[in-house]
Order: sequence, then structure tokens, then C-alpha cells
Amino acid sequence: MSKTKYIFVTGGVTSSLGKGIISASLAKLLQSRGLSVTIQKLDPYINVDPGTLNPYEHGECYVTSDGAETDLDLGHYERFLNVETSQANNVTTGKIYQTVIQKERRGDFLGKTVQVIPHITNEIKRRIKLLSETNDFDIIITEIGGTVGDIESLPYIESVRQLRWELGNANSLVIHLTLIPYLSAAKELKTKPTQHSVKTLMESGINADILVCRTEHDISKEIKNKLALFCNVDVDSVIQSKDASTIYDVPLMMEQEKLDTVVLRKLDISNFSSTNMSNWTEFVNRLKFPKNTVNVGLIGKYVELQDSYKSILESLVHAGSVNETKVIIHSIHSEFIDDDQIKKQISNLDGVIVAPGFGSRGIEGKIKSIKYVRENNIPFFGICLGMQMAVIEYSRNVLNLKGSNSTEMDEKTSHPVISLMKDQKNIVNKGGTMRLGSWTCDLDEGSRVYDIYKSKSITERHRHRWELNNDYLENLNNAGLKTSGINSETGLVEIIELPANNWFIGVQFHPEYKSTVETPHPLFVSFVKACLTYNNTKDQNGRK
Ligand code: GLN
Repeated sequence: MSKTKYIFVTGGVTSSLGKGIISASLAKLLQSRGLSVTIQKLDPYINVDPGTLNPYEHGECYVTSDGAETDLDLGHYERFLNVETSQANNVTTGKIYQTVIQKERRGDFLGKTVQVIPHITNEIKRRIKLLSETNDFDIIITEIGGTVGDIESLPYIESVRQLRWELGNANSLVIHLTLIPYLSAAKELKTKPTQHSVKTLMESGINADILVCRTEHDISKEIKNKLALFCNVDVDSVIQSKDASTIYDVPLMMEQEKLDTVVLRKLDISNFSSTNMSNWTEFVNRLKFPKNTVNVGLIGKYVELQDSYKSILESLVHAGSVNETKVIIHSIHSEFIDDDQIKKQISNLDGVIVAPGFGSRGIEGKIKSIKYVRENNIPFFGICLGMQMAVIEYSRNVLNLKGSNSTEMDEKTSHPVISLMKDQKNIVNKGGTMRLGSWTCDLDEGSRVYDIYKSKSITERHRHRWELNNDYLENLNNAGLKTSGINSETGLVEIIELPANNWFIGVQFHPEYKSTVETPHPLFVSFVKACLTYNNTKDQNGRK
């Protein structure tokens, strides 16, 4: 009998039901009982990773500390569990096929026809079990992307069937997340779509052990009985998951529904303590009953799709809770910012974040906004491209170097204050070739960021190709732009700040990937605090 137990989470009826949040919530409850848990996401698309996908297609690309460009669900896993994920936590069909084809070319299967079954399914099973080889997990939760019945997910479903057979019932279980739609005309919750999706799963040889039912309304005892009978599950294994006002409520709701208790019983696990969700509950309470409000502008070019900046939005939720402050986000499309709009859109805000991004669309709007917040001493937080834009703005408007730009936007710019990193110059492939993952950064002891981090050396995650061009460092420093964080190995500037302003910080890395419920990111906490201070002074000066 293997020590690690496996939970597979599938989805039915429709996408976007929140498999990631359910997986993370269950993992949180099991973790709070003293079990070691990790979560893995299997994505049925052919891209090797989502790094080459436009955020409009797939939302934010999350980056792990070991440099994997991954699905945004891994962000939820880390934010809920406060445990780092890695390359092995996100597997795509692209990765699976790449490995199998490389093996075929090497001659590993000489003489054989390489097929979906067994070669692709074997590779999927190997990847699922890989996590238990590097770490001693009690439980691995594997979330299968897509919806049951999709052609793309068939090899994954078949692999789960085989694994269940190999592992045995007490070592694995399947949770099926489904939707119970409410028909307002009939005033009724409907179970038929769930019956069909469970049946589709059965056709592939898999019985769901637990149903988690997304619903807008409470599911009655009768409906639970009906679902149990027609879907072949125990009545206490029909778990209601009602729409929540915040994703952070879901672990507490699942605790009430006893999802973790049913899981432990079915997996025959007995060495666990009772759940301890008191810190989590305190976090949620602070979130739900804030004492203050601040208005923060998030300037980016993908603002129509909330998922594009998922980790930034969640980091602000964490920081808001710490400051007992409701952070109202105003998404501002960088493409539509012009001089007339700036005052209208930005002057009433308590702080501005300029988001990460790629390419030239919308950058002039970002630069104009930064000029406005700098001159009006509104708290500013520039992340990755946001920091690069702050350097360009300073260079154009304070150093008076007209035409300053990044060579990403204008290869022939007269002042390339942001230029391609040296080791990026000969790279031609786009996938997985950026400066990725954790890098250390030494902080200047006299700086604001040192006050914030209270540490001389930090590590943060990166995802970029361009950098502040050190040829302009002296000029920028002399003109009042402080470079307060440097990677000593490469000499790359990682943080800039304007000491003359109240809170003006730009970071080349992505602090948003490291903020969790348990350890909200210090930069976001400090930024929200600065917004609060700014808001109070605005009130005092009667400028509001
Ligand atoms: N496009 C910029 C670069 O590659 C910034 C990237 C980002 O914001 N993540 O350097």
C-alpha cells in the first residue's frame, strides 16, 4: 500500500465552477488537521505551459519560485496553503506529448507503436505520482482541467481510472464538481445536468465518490437524496457549495458541509487532529467588516478580464484585511488614458498600481498616469512593466531625455533607459526563456523598501526580458530616483523609489506571486497603508 493518498477533482456541466478554489479549500482544511497536502493541476491544452498565452485567453500566468510559468490556479493553492508549488504542480498535454515524443526519438520505445494508451497515459500517471517522490505528502490533490466529456481530457480521465485501479479505493477518491442550475421560471433547482455528467464519467469507468454541487440556492434534503440515488454516491457525500461573497469563505463553508470529514473517512485516514481555522476566520472577518475604505486605480491593458491580474487583486485583498480596509479597485484601461481623462480618472484615487505587461499597446497612457501621480504625490506602485514605465517617465520628464523608451517598444529609441538583458539577446524561442522564478535582491539599508521588508536580502519572483539600463543609473540617481534593490550577481536593478514622494516604488519583480493569507506581502500591506494615509490627509485638507 502506498503511503500517499490521491484525490482527483473533475468538473462537470460547465467550466468556471471553481475547481481550483474547491481543491484549495479542501487542501486547507486537511492541512489544518496536520496533514501534508499539495495540489496539482492537469491542463488539457497543447501549449507546453501558459507562458505563451495571452491573458485574454487564459487569465494571469502564475510563476512559481522554481521558474515555472503556470495556470493561475497554482496561485490559489499557494495563497490558501502558504506552501510553495513547483514545476511538477502544473502539467499540460503539451508537456506530456513533448516528453513522450522526446523518448520516442531517443529510441526508448524502439520497435513499438507509440500510442495514447499506454504511452501517453503512462506519462500522465508518472507525472501525477512525481510529486510524492520528491516530498512526503500525505495527500496529493490532482485537479483535472476542463469538463468531463471534453475530447481533450479523455487521456487524463483514463489515467485516473487506471490509477484508481492500481491504488485501490482506500488510497484514492474522485470528487466531481458540478452545477445545480436554478430555473427561475420553474423556481426549481435542476439535477439532470449533474446526472448526465456523472453518467459520462461512469462511461469512462470512473465512479464519483463525492459530489460538490455549485448552486445559487440551498439544496434541500430531497434533492441531496435524489442526487445520491441517481449518481451512486452516499447522501453525506453530496456537498453543497453555495455562491460565496468571497473565495476565502469557501474553506469555512466546506468545513461546515463536512467535506474534509467525508474525505478522511473514505480515504481511511485516522491520524489527524481537529481543524483549526481560527486564523483564517479572523482574516475573513477583518475582510468582511473593514473600518476604512481606499480607492486604488489598477492601470493595465487587460483590465476587461479580471483574471488577468488575479494575483495583484488577491494581494490587495490580503493587504486590505491586514489594514482593516476595503480596497476598492478601479480598473483603468491604459489605452484610453489621455490628458483630459487623467484628472477625471486618477485625481480622486488614493493610490495607483501600474500593472505588468508586454508590448507597446497602452504604454503612453501608463507613462502619462505616472507623471500625474508623481507630480501630485499620490501613492504609486509599479510592477515589472509598471516599474519600467516609471523609469521612462522620469527620464523623459525629469532628466529631460526626450524620446526615452524601452527597446521593447522602440528598438531605435534615442535613449534606451530600459533595454534587453544581456543574456536575452541571443534567445530566439519565446516559450520559457524569460528571466523566471526566484532571484535574490539586496536592499539599501537607508531605503523605504528596507523599512518595509525589514531585511537586507529578499527573494522575489521574476518574469521579464528587459531591465533598467545601467548606463543611465548615475543620471537617474543624481536626479533623485533611488535604486534601492539590486541583484548583486548580475548588477540588475530590481527596485526603484522616489524618496521625495510619500510612497513611490517600482519593482522589477512580481511581489503579487508571494502574497498569501498567512503572510500578506509587505509591499502591498505598506502600499494600502500609504493609500489610507493619503486618503486621510486628503480629507483633512478638504481636497476630496
Ligand atoms: N515586457 C517587460 C519585460 O519583458 C515587462 C514584463 C512584465 O511586466 N512581466 O521586461
